[in-house]
Amino acid sequence: MKYIGAHVSAAGGVENAPKRAHEIGAKAFALFTKNQRQWEWPPLSDENIAGFKKNCEELGYSMDYVMPHDSYLINLGHPEQDQLEKSRNAFLDEMQRCEQLGIKLLNFHPGSHLDDITVEECLKRNAESLNWALDKTEGVTAVIENTAGQGTNTGYTFEHLAAIIDWVEDKSRVGICIDTCHAFAAGYDLSTEEGYKLMMGEFEQTVGFEYLKGMHLNDSKKELGSRVDRHDNIGEGHIGMKGFELLMQDERFDDIPMILETPNTERWPEEIELLYSLASK
Ligand SMILES: [Zn+2]
Ligand SMILES: [Zn+2]
Repeated sequence: MKYIGAHVSAAGGVENAPKRAHEIGAKAFALFTKNQRQWEWPPLSDENIAGFKKNCEELGYSMDYVMPHDSYLINLGHPEQDQLEKSRNAFLDEMQRCEQLGIKLLNFHPGSHLDDITVEECLKRNAESLNWALDKTEGVTAVIENTAGQGTNTGYTFEHLAAIIDWVEDKSRVGICIDTCHAFAAGYDLSTEEGYKLMMGEFEQTVGFEYLKGMHLNDSKKELGSRVDRHDNIGEGHIGMKGFELLMQDERFDDIPMILETPNTERWPEEIELLYSLASK
């Protein structure tokens, strides 16, 4: 069964996120557990935590289908030691927020090398950051998202993702989230049946579906291999409806959170319905 939802707002408190997910007909959801553009943010209150748990339970959201995204400021592969430490501490704070909320997955982007270190060194730093944070927490899996490869971002090939996993000590607490827009922009052509098969075959061989913990469902405004990250509405970008139909029909993507990050939030109820109709075709 597919669990489709969206990245909903947590404005006014994380406890509001499950309500917003419910309003749009989502069976899964993502959220930010703190302001995604600031380093410092007040800790979760007892009221936030109790409210979040209560609302998830009442609205039927299992923690298997809730996958928050970390702050955009964090770079777990930062070349400079003091900046790396700042990122690691911020990531640990995010992991701990998940622990408090009973959330089992935390999605993040691998860091950027900033042209100061090699891609390999940057990937290794990402893994070391994960080892450090996993050691200090319990029950939360760090879910690495593939990137579009914009700027000096690492993580745009399945080999990059596999390399990070390789260096992570506790493999039971590391996973992958595939973002369809990022994959397409990085050169994986899931818009055709042939390209889709090739991409998923490569993922199986390089990473393995046992590590797949979630998906971001976005069409792409930019062309194949552009390395530019611009999300489009489902079926309206360069991936097109065929790619999403193939995905919705593919059982390997059952029972994981599938999250929309498309630009028109008011269209999410419609897009969720559309994706479910493709799944039941
Ligand atoms: Zn994404
Ligand atoms: Zn993106």
